[in-house]
Amino acid sequence: MTRILISEVGPRDGLQSVSRVMPLQARQAWIAAEAAAGVREIEVGSFVPARLLPQMADTAALVGFAKGIEGLAVAVLVPNLRGAEHAIAAGAHKLSIPFSMSETHSLKNVRKDHAAMLDEIRAIAALVAAQPEAQRPHFEVGLSTAFGCTMEGAVSEDKVVRLAVASIEAGAREVGLSDTTGYANPAQVRRLVRRTRTAVGAERLNTLHLHNTRGLGLANVVAGLEEGITTFDASLGGLGGCPFAPGASGNIVTEDLAFMLEAMGCETGIDLERLLKVRRIIAEALPGEPLYGFTPDAGLPLGFGSATA
Ligand code: ZN
Repeated sequence: MTRILISEVGPRDGLQSVSRVMPLQARQAWIAAEAAAGVREIEVGSFVPARLLPQMADTAALVGFAKGIEGLAVAVLVPNLRGAEHAIAAGAHKLSIPFSMSETHSLKNVRKDHAAMLDEIRAIAALVAAQPEAQRPHFEVGLSTAFGCTMEGAVSEDKVVRLAVASIEAGAREVGLSDTTGYANPAQVRRLVRRTRTAVGAERLNTLHLHNTRGLGLANVVAGLEEGITTFDASLGGLGGCPFAPGASGNIVTEDLAFMLEAMGCETGIDLERLLKVRRIIAEALPGEPLYGFTPDAGLPLGFGSATA
């Protein structure tokens, strides 16, 4: 049976697109409930200045809380070296830095061109390497806008492959491919995963971060699965929607992803009945916030999960 890791990114990717601040206690309850439902990795927040994203102001406290949950890998997003210093001080297990393949997007978002971003990645890799081995976090570069950009349009696959190689050479342990804008289609996913894995080594690309903006999220997951991808990011209830397309869902929905993978015979470790109950915590903490997903609305098929062997 193929073991697949679902990495929950709702407390970071979802909440950063919601202008209201979800109370710390509710976020703790959410993380604890999802871990109890069998989710093994959660991106709990990002280390960005609180004046830019007040929703993420207490990420350090959340990391501390989440580290107390046995068996849970605690991931955070860091925009730069300073963020990485905070993440390491907080004791996060995994750091990822978004590296926009669209230079226009990168300059607008973090005011850095590609050369400056590679310098930042090199500095973070050095900081990570300087930690005692037992505390050294896993360092991943998320190649964002890899499938297209709302400012530049199409993004060249040659460029993505070249910057993936450059990220590994700069000291990243792994790269992931991110469809930040929901532009990807399954043929493109298959091609770019294959090309990138050939260039950096299969063990250096295991993660896809997909959005469902145009309804192709799960089709793109299947394409990734067929190419050997083993980790998929997703957000409970598709929380946060899509900042570029009002009314459209953002991240692929954790509940639908878990249902599809389990139904296909992959092992996620997730108890779906329990997972479906977790969204109540979000609904209560953020009343009126749209939540997405087909499986939560339709319920599980009759007899789902009962022994079939
Ligand atoms: Zn995203």
